[in-house]
Amino acid sequence: MSIPLLWVDETPSTNAYVKEKFLSGEWESPAAVAAHRQTAGRGRLGRTWESEDGQALALSVLVPRALPAAVTLAVGLAVSDAVAAICGAKTAIKWPNDILCNHRKIGGILCEGIVGERCATVLGIGINVAQSADFFAAKGLSYGGSILSETGVSVSVKTLANAVCDAVEQTLQTLETSGFSALKPAFESRCITLKNAVRVLSPSGEPLLDGTACGVDDDGNLLVADQAGVTHAVGAGEVSVRGVYGYV
Ligand code: ATP
Repeated sequence: MSIPLLWVDETPSTNAYVKEKFLSGEWESPAAVAAHRQTAGRGRLGRTWESEDGQALALSVLVPRALPAAVTLAVGLAVSDAVAAICGAKTAIKWPNDILCNHRKIGGILCEGIVGERCATVLGIGINVAQSADFFAAKGLSYGGSILSETGVSVSVKTLANAVCDAVEQTLQTLETSGFSALKPAFESRCITLKNAVRVLSPSGEPLLDGTACGVDDDGNLLVADQAGVTHAVGAGEVSVRGVYGYV
């Protein structure tokens, strides 16, 4: 069964669009929306997600139930693999779910839970499809890149949207039937953060912990071993992780 995908010309945020459809009772089963133009995209921890009209995919999937916290990593894995398959290039994941190509960020993911009488999860996916280096320079995103700028491949935004929806649906099935442990080996093999020296930062950018990223647990937490050899489980909702020498 495929998730139905609705295209809209413009919306401030595809995540906000989906939330409203769920809360108003209009959407009760799994469904997705993609926008040709997203004017106020959001990232994790209240950050901004920049898009350029027609040059990027802005897509949100409604799952009308609560999902485990590791869904945010599972979606990263699905998107990373869908992009790699469609453009024939190698992609990687920076924990928890930044999608990278050539060490440049070509995609970001924001998973949000709706908690109340009726629970839901909104899976927001932004992918840079065709922006040039000038776009990223103008937005001050020195480590940003697009599928086109990094691979030379021109991908149709619609084809990409369909491929991503299918990949997300399949990955959710595995997550819900077998748990994140079934996806963990694939995630770890694509996760560029592991085995590297990392710095864990608070939402305001304050350093919280330096150490070596040594694994991911079954809840999707990053395991960071500090200088004293003590391992800390770091949750995706609370922090950012940087390489000690830069973004990766
Ligand atoms: P990071 O580790 O990159 O800070 P994050 O997971 O906290 O990632 P996201 O929610 O993925 O952040 O995305 C928001 C951040 O991504 C912004 O703070 C900005 O630095 C960067 N960003 C915004 N728009 C784009 C874009 N189109 N391409 C690449 N990076 C972007």
